[in-house]
Amino acid sequence: MELCTKCGKKEVFLDGLCKECYLNKNPLLISFKPVKILVCFFCHKYFSKGKWIGFRKLEDVVKDIVQKRLVFNDDARINSFKLRPVIPKYKEGPNVKVNIKTEITVFGTYSDKKTVLKEEYVLPVKVIFILCPRCSRHKSGYFEGVLQLREVDEEVIDYAVDEAKKQNQRGIFITKKLKVRNGFDIYLTKRGYIHELARELLNKFGGETKASKKLFSRDKLRSRDIYRINVLFRQSKFRKGDILNIDNELFKVRNIDKNITLINIKTGKKTLVIPKYLKVKAAEEVKETIISLVFPHVEILHPETFQSVKPENIKNKKFKVNQKVRVVVLDGKVWLVD
Ligand SMILES: [Zn+2]
Ligand SMILES: [Zn+2]
Repeated sequence: MELCTKCGKKEVFLDGLCKECYLNKNPLLISFKPVKILVCFFCHKYFSKGKWIGFRKLEDVVKDIVQKRLVFNDDARINSFKLRPVIPKYKEGPNVKVNIKTEITVFGTYSDKKTVLKEEYVLPVKVIFILCPRCSRHKSGYFEGVLQLREVDEEVIDYAVDEAKKQNQRGIFITKKLKVRNGFDIYLTKRGYIHELARELLNKFGGETKASKKLFSRDKLRSRDIYRINVLFRQSKFRKGDILNIDNELFKVRNIDKNITLINIKTGKKTLVIPKYLKVKAAEEVKETIISLVFPHVEILHPETFQSVKPENIKNKKFKVNQKVRVVVLDGKVWLVD
């Protein structure tokens, strides 16, 4: 029986050494360096190779970085390895440090031996929460432009603010929100996104946008001018359900996005109009009245003369006497608009 030349155990694995002594001399994992990971607690990105990268779970970040730092023994064949970060409970905040023990298990074989060897390590990983440069710029009031919302519904403001808040990982932040006459200003850290968001509002709510830029300063290093932009979004003055008089025909607004979808009250036909070509100053006044007769034909109470009259349009609807209806009066004639 052969003996281990190092410890004298009655076992020889390779090179006259037992498994344990052999592994001590030739570990599967040669080195791992202590790991420090910087994480921005504001935009949730971690720093790696000169870049800030977004992530979902801290566990994935630890695994990714630890894996890159492992150096295996060239003489061994590594069959597999497992990483298990044990993350304690923590709260994110400035300068919070979290110590994470990462358990590493490596399986491998040497030369032509079939025996699979297993090694276990615990690697300390320190996560430090800080503000990345972009976020600290934002915190100091940096902005590249202003989205100016004018004559908008509350819904538009809420939508714009919510959308902008979702962009943190892209390095886009709201620096300031300001209620102004006729509207609301949103200061943002990315020029391009201001245009993007304005376009989105236009497509969703309808209206018009106007952009302008203002020289802010000069970047001497790269010898170029730095501009701040203003993008104005004015919501369409019409809303869904409004009745418009276009060349003495009545139309109902079915939908507003970057186009206005109109339904002809008389014919029921649909038309699309580009807002800037719509030369209507204001929606028609819609009045409420009642059905005054249903047989032998439908009549309604004229809201101005209080005479029982035939409406110009009856949309194959069943009516009841005294039923409330909404109408528009055009040249003395009454149109049902519901
Ligand atoms: Zn030994
Ligand atoms: Zn950040």
